[in-house]
Amino acid sequence: MNLDHALHQLTETHYVQHHVQGEGMRSRAEAPLLQLLQDARQAGGEQARGTSRRSEKAPVALDALDLWMEIAETVATQYYLLTGRDDTRRPVIGKLRIWVGSMTKPRQQANAEELLAGWVQRIRALLDPPRTIQLWERPCPECHAREVTISDRRTAALHILTDRMTQKSWAECQVCHETWPGGEALVELAETLGRRAPSGTRLDLPA
Ligand SMILES: [Zn+2]
Repeated sequence: MNLDHALHQLTETHYVQHHVQGEGMRSRAEAPLLQLLQDARQAGGEQARGTSRRSEKAPVALDALDLWMEIAETVATQYYLLTGRDDTRRPVIGKLRIWVGSMTKPRQQANAEELLAGWVQRIRALLDPPRTIQLWERPCPECHAREVTISDRRTAALHILTDRMTQKSWAECQVCHETWPGGEALVELAETLGRRAPSGTRLDLPA
């Protein structure tokens, strides 16, 4: 992803490839990612109206708020360093365009590219998390853990995740963080788990 592409996805309506059941890959229009992030943050704010406790907000809205603050502060700082002005009423998207547009040095552009591509990735992961299947009955073949408690929530050690956009699947252990990156690795994992599974049970993994 180059700098223009990342900026485009963050600040303008753009087309993305996604998988449609029975039809393969299709493209659809998507609103600017910064707009979607801002909407997710505000949706959570409305849910939480009448309460001042952050913990009562939906987790996605909280994460959206944190990421939004981080991006807004970074952009505001860079805009100030560039122009010497706060311009508090100018939207974040406008400031970001001006900041990126001002860059002439390759080194500066490369740093910005890495920063913006990271934002794109984190916004997508937040707004469109992979579909998750938890394998409660199967211990991880690497660390042999069956379950773990993360932030007060019990979860199976082994998760099968599927990206909603590409329909690509992979497996991940929440304890030792071993991953099985789809394809052959997933088939092998299914075989390993199948051998150890109680007889008569079948293990269905996404292809
Ligand atoms: Zn493990």
